Amino acid sequence: MSFERVQEKLNILADAAKYDVSCSSSGSNRTNKNKGLGDASASGICHTYTEDGRCVSLLKILLTNHCIFDCAYCVTRKSNDIKRAAFKVQEVVDLTINFYRRNYIEGLFLSSGIFKSADYTMERLVAVAKKLRLEENFNGYIHLKSIPGASDELMREAGLYADRLSVNIEIPTEKGLKLLAPDKNRADFIKPMEKVKNEIILYKNEKKLIKSTPKYAPAGQSTQMIVGASGESDMQIMYTSNYFYKNFNLKRVYYSGYVPISYDTRLPQIGTPVPMLRENRLYQTDWLLRFYGFNIEEILNEQNQSLDLDIDPKLGWALRNLHEFPVDINKADKRMLARIPGLGMKSVFKILNARRYRQLNWDHLKSIGVALNRAQYFIVCASNQFERRDLTSEKIKGLILQNSKSKYTAMLSNQLNLFG
Ligand code: SF4
Repeated sequence: MSFERVQEKLNILADAAKYDVSCSSSGSNRTNKNKGLGDASASGICHTYTEDGRCVSLLKILLTNHCIFDCAYCVTRKSNDIKRAAFKVQEVVDLTINFYRRNYIEGLFLSSGIFKSADYTMERLVAVAKKLRLEENFNGYIHLKSIPGASDELMREAGLYADRLSVNIEIPTEKGLKLLAPDKNRADFIKPMEKVKNEIILYKNEKKLIKSTPKYAPAGQSTQMIVGASGESDMQIMYTSNYFYKNFNLKRVYYSGYVPISYDTRLPQIGTPVPMLRENRLYQTDWLLRFYGFNIEEILNEQNQSLDLDIDPKLGWALRNLHEFPVDINKADKRMLARIPGLGMKSVFKILNARRYRQLNWDHLKSIGVALNRAQYFIVCASNQFERRDLTSEKIKGLILQNSKSKYTAMLSNQLNLFG
């Protein structure tokens, strides 16, 4: 095989892979104990993102962009008139090792269209990971896409060589899936997720008894949902996400704004902007659920089915619940501190620590890194610079937006200016 042909395949299959954002490599602690190549626990291996938020630290490719399915939202669908290519297993192995040695990448993210059958494809994905680990002694990070419908045996093997496995839900509701990918159904995704979840538990339990038990998918499993392809509300998307986090122990759900790629009337038309800001608000909501102790019903419910694009979801919640404020920074518990707009969890822990020694005032809070332009309306502390408590939610929102330096607010006001 000529170098030019491999280069051409690389161009095609790296380009096709860019629509999949589920490639964060956090959570692995695979170390280099056998003097092999790479070290997934090394610094710098986890996250490098392009400006639009796509992860680039891994060699991110498809094994093939041939596919027997015809999912309307996917550039790889069989009816799409595009250049097709397929790597051989050894080609992916060689590319990974060569790129790694040149310091271009620190791991591999390998997905694939489905050629011939789920098992046929999964077998090849597993073969790449197996060769890298066993023949090349590669200890770098490997993320494999699990192919819905692949056999349990292949799924079991995949987790023994990969750090992370993922099955993409793609469309947040069954109804949307039926509309855009009628050949698929939710059960196709659930079965491999269930399998991976059970294997992770099983191997962890065995390891407690037998130390030599290998690790199974040590960085866990993740999934991706496409946002804005099939008309789902933010509430539907986040309830689906919440369900999968709770039932399948997912490490991450990724939200990918739909990039219009076809003239299919079931989808947003080409030229429709990618909903980047909405994607960002969904990620913020995701963080509130996972790290800030919020329940999904507090953020999204029948009365509030969409996230406010102007402001972050925590501020949105606070404005709807002004009766919970002001919170005394020097007395409140961790749960309530985490709910104050403008306070990240790092600031919360710093406050809890610092107030053991002194009563905190505005200057202390500023040096801790609290965003006072938002927090000031919701707190009291050992100074009284801001004392007005008669402001309505609308007034507070207006004042915050007026003084906000957020790039999203800037984007929003530019858009509004265009129509002004
Ligand atoms: S099965 Fe996967 S690769 Fe094939 S068309 Fe559907 S989403 Fe695309």
